[in-house]
Amino acid sequence: MHREIYVTRPAMPPFEEYCAEIRDLWDTRQLTNMGEKHRELEEKLKAYLHAPHLTLFANGHLALESAIGALGLSGEIITTPFTFASTTHAIVRSGCTPVFCDIDPDSFAMDVSKIELLITEKTSALLPVHVYGHICDVESIRKLAQKYRLRVLYDAAHAFGVERSGVSAANFGDAAVFSFHATKVFTTVEGGAVTYADPTLEQRLNDAKNYGIRGETCVAAVGGNAKLNELQAAMGICNLRHMDEEIERRAAVSACYRRILNSAEGIVLPEPQPDTRYNYVYFPVLFRDQEMRERVYDGLRVQGIFARRYFYPLTTDFACYRGRPGFDSEATPVAKSIAGRVLTLPLYGGLALDDAERIARSVLNFLAKHL
Ligand SMILES: *Cc1c(COP(=O)(O)O)cnc(C)c1O
Repeated sequence: MHREIYVTRPAMPPFEEYCAEIRDLWDTRQLTNMGEKHRELEEKLKAYLHAPHLTLFANGHLALESAIGALGLSGEIITTPFTFASTTHAIVRSGCTPVFCDIDPDSFAMDVSKIELLITEKTSALLPVHVYGHICDVESIRKLAQKYRLRVLYDAAHAFGVERSGVSAANFGDAAVFSFHATKVFTTVEGGAVTYADPTLEQRLNDAKNYGIRGETCVAAVGGNAKLNELQAAMGICNLRHMDEEIERRAAVSACYRRILNSAEGIVLPEPQPDTRYNYVYFPVLFRDQEMRERVYDGLRVQGIFARRYFYPLTTDFACYRGRPGFDSEATPVAKSIAGRVLTLPLYGGLALDDAERIARSVLNFLAKHL
């Protein structure tokens, strides 16, 4: 019997490397509040992501809520239902109304040809997601935003290290939000960041993450607490050193899946985007129908292989949103169809190629049995 395989397994630095990195915290006792590790990680990430400005957060979700607040968004925000809970929740928790745009059947990103119809005088922003690390149609989105004077905030939680035509995901839109959760390509255990072009956002983002405290006796804004601590920043500093290696290993696992599954009948593998430095964050497989997807999902589970149905259900189908006006998955039929048919296979740098091959061959077996 093989050991269980989950959809991901966090990359971690060698134990001794992490110990060395946190050693001086035992002397300085500065454990949080934007200490030395925090400053170092911010600088290193700015360089790695080619970000003009970057502010760290305790997690991607609070980064997203803080960015919505810092950009002063209100009213309606056009977004996608084919995403993690965080994207939709952040809009709703910020007092804004999400307006759901259908997705493109090939890229799984917001279908830019359907955005314009959804724009009203209440629309303040577009909040697209670079799903699976595939970069959205950023040029069309930029033109639309310019035409209607909308802000653009990218949920770039999947796009760490991705570059399109040499431009990093940190450079698109007014701001982009990254997640460093343990399940993401780059991790600080929990963590996140906002990258942005306008330096005046910095003060507002800092207010959001540290109670609006600007000096010992000056509290200038009603902020919350969303600070990344020193132990997590140290984890990030270590993991960043091994980042390119991690992405290379993920590329090899993806290539193994692609080699075996490429010509299989009844499935589609999303094409890699041209002229892109990809991060191999997920390996989505699109099945012919939902019944087949569930068969494969259940069959793999029995073998101790835990693939995930990212993203199913659509956020518009969440129990917490049942009956809310505007939350209607029938209005985004492409997203609904894809959510029912997609399965993301286990993918992480530490996944042995033998295991990847075994997983891919199991998928083939289920397909052959049930086609
Ligand atoms: C992971 C994720 C987030 C939230 O990030 P956390 O660090 O888990 O708070 C937001 N959006 C998407 C698309 C994600 O996958």
